[in-house]
Amino acid sequence: MSTTEPRDGAVAETPDRYGAFPRLTPEQLESLAAHGERRRTAEGEVLYREGRPIREFLAILSGSVEIIHDQGGPDERTVAVHGPGRFLGELGLLEGQAAFDTAVMRQAGEILAVPVERQRALVGRDPVLGDLILRAYLGRRYLLIGLGAGFRILGSCYSPDTLRLREFAARNRLPHRWVDLEKDKEAEALLRRFAIRTEETPVVLWQGDRVLRNPSNAELARLIGLPAPTSSSDGGRCDVLVVGAGPAGLAASVYGASDGLTTVTVDAVATGGQAATSSRIENYLGFPSGISGGELIERAVLQAHKFGARLMVPAEVSGLIPQDHEYAVTFTDGSRVRAGAVVLTSGVLYRRLEVPGLDRLEGTSVYYAATVHEASLCQADPVAVVGGGNSAGQAALFLANHAPRVHLLVRGGDLNADMSRYLVDQVEQHPKIEVLLHTEVRGAGGRERLESLTVEDNASGEHRELRAAALFVFIGARPRTDWLRGVLALDEKGFVLTGADAQAVADADQLAALGRDPMLLETTLPGVFAAGDVRSGSVKRVASATGEGAMAIRLVHEHRERRGNLAAADSEGHRPIADGPVSSR
Ligand SMILES: Cc1cc2nc3c(=O)[nH]c(=O)nc-3n(C[C@H](O)[C@H](O)[C@H](O)COP(=O)(O)OP(=O)(O)OC[C@H]3O[C@@H](n4cnc5c(N)ncnc54)[C@H](O)[C@@H]3O)c2cc1C
Repeated sequence: MSTTEPRDGAVAETPDRYGAFPRLTPEQLESLAAHGERRRTAEGEVLYREGRPIREFLAILSGSVEIIHDQGGPDERTVAVHGPGRFLGELGLLEGQAAFDTAVMRQAGEILAVPVERQRALVGRDPVLGDLILRAYLGRRYLLIGLGAGFRILGSCYSPDTLRLREFAARNRLPHRWVDLEKDKEAEALLRRFAIRTEETPVVLWQGDRVLRNPSNAELARLIGLPAPTSSSDGGRCDVLVVGAGPAGLAASVYGASDGLTTVTVDAVATGGQAATSSRIENYLGFPSGISGGELIERAVLQAHKFGARLMVPAEVSGLIPQDHEYAVTFTDGSRVRAGAVVLTSGVLYRRLEVPGLDRLEGTSVYYAATVHEASLCQADPVAVVGGGNSAGQAALFLANHAPRVHLLVRGGDLNADMSRYLVDQVEQHPKIEVLLHTEVRGAGGRERLESLTVEDNASGEHRELRAAALFVFIGARPRTDWLRGVLALDEKGFVLTGADAQAVADADQLAALGRDPMLLETTLPGVFAAGDVRSGSVKRVASATGEGAMAIRLVHEHRERRGNLAAADSEGHRPIADGPVSSR
């Protein structure tokens, strides 16, 4: 985006160099006009304001509109000017977020305004229009992020809370800018202007008047306008509650919502799960040159929104209580939602490395993911990656594009043991990656950030020091099911048992609630399904997670049918004792 100046009194439009500012055809404008209203607008009129929700899709019929960042603030700048046929807004409009810029009429004219809900339905029916708008909105979000638009996080690079907030913003792809208290000249002026004491940092600043002192992720989410779990539709009841918005959860959201079920999907951290932390997914069907995890997930999130699924972040589920053939799902913040069926897609959590002193550095220089966010923090010094699997290999290759040197520390003696051949080849041939086999981390040096690692050659017992400014750990994962212990049947490692496995292992008490054989992805609780990495015996791939997420919704329908039959039998006074096995098993 570039600032555009008027020439000879006329207003020049910002050129559409990246496909982010397309023009609607007269036919498309006409079809939208049937669902909205035309409005005369005066010069200088504000159409929407940064930090406030946008509830309408706006297209320009005549006149021109200026898009301004930080209006009234020290960084005010015009970033685009649009003329007739163009439309306004960006991704946040579809995802229910506040605006990240301000739109002002530069030349009086006429605007077409369509309520977002109606526009969403229209877009769902018209794939060409839908694709045009979605692609433009995605492009605009990337431009906003690149410009450093949105809110500011003012905090020290040594503060774990600063890292937490930055990570939350980055994982949720929220436009923001970080002002480092330690190095940024702007920091001092901001502290003075907002009367903030250093010990109150990190702070989030937006729109001149909004200051959040060391907010929780949930407080930051509410500032942006992300919905809270209790604000779910139907007074807190939905047909399906999906726990976890990784690939499995997003697939369940898309299929659930498109099948007409009221679908609420919650995630403790961000949409995307592990897949969003993958720099390039090479083996997902339909993307021969690979696709970044972030892009794949952004598309899935849009698709889920398009069908009307409600996505809530951050919202961590902490309990599941059977209630009158349905479930009360409780959250760590005390809120609760009632659900007719539940799909568990809470994935896995990466294991921590048990090394003295390492936990102290976890907030600042020890990571369990390698995305653009983490890579941007380690451009100048060597980094180390621990692990011998595909995740470690991918991370090493990705980081080698950013850091001057990457040490890949592998406990075993053969890289081929756990890593795919295509990755082994790339890792071994990369000039910036040094593979250290038979190597284990024994100690970490550095006061506020990691500076060095003590590693041991487990074949010879020899110790050596490695200079490393960051450590990336990929040493396997465990399921995120602690809150499900005693609620439904888990395997010995804590993964959720489903179908025949659940039936084989579960005891009579656990199966009593079900009263029949569990369906393929069904747990020992009727109407509670598990899909993706959290499921015992799952394949741990994006494709299988999305496939299972979709399949879980098919089974939700079967469960609803059975429940309907049971209710009918109940009302006739002859309730069957148990259902037989179903065809999907
Ligand atoms: C770095 C990396 C690279 C990878 N590369 C590839 C690849 O190239 N190809 C491939 O096929 N696979 C790849 N994978 C594996 C793939 O990403 C996973 O198999 C896939 O993401 C699993 O999806 P899921 O939805 O089951 O779980 P996850 O992706 O783990 O998502 C689970 C989500 O649930 C949320 N959650 C957990 N507990 C709760 C709770 N109590 N309340 C609310 N939310 C909760 C989490 O925050 C998380 O967002 C990679 C993984 C990593 C880490």
